[in-house]
Amino acid sequence: MKSIYCSFFGHQYEVSKKITYHVKEYKCSHCNAQMTTNGNGKLTPLTPKYKEINSVLERIHYRRTSRIKQEETIRSTEEALLNFTPHF
Ligand SMILES: [Zn+2]
Repeated sequence: MKSIYCSFFGHQYEVSKKITYHVKEYKCSHCNAQMTTNGNGKLTPLTPKYKEINSVLERIHYRRTSRIKQEETIRSTEEALLNFTPHF
C-alpha cells in the first residue's frame, strides 16, 4: 500500500538484501514497497518472478565466492580417497 508520504515525496528505498555485487533488493522505509535491480541495473518492482531470479543469482554468487573453499574441500576429499587403503 502506498502511503501519503510516498505519493508526495516518492519512496525512500533502503537496501534490504544484497544479492550480488550489482544486484540488491530495496524496501521503502515508509510503505514497505519492494524493488530490485534488474539486469539493466535499473530499479524494478520486486515481483515473485524477480524474487525467484534473485534467489538463483544469490545461490550462484554464493557458490562463486565460496569456490576456493569448495575446491579445497574437494581436493582434501580426493586425497583422503586416494590415501585410503582397504584393510582385508
Ligand atoms: Zn513507499
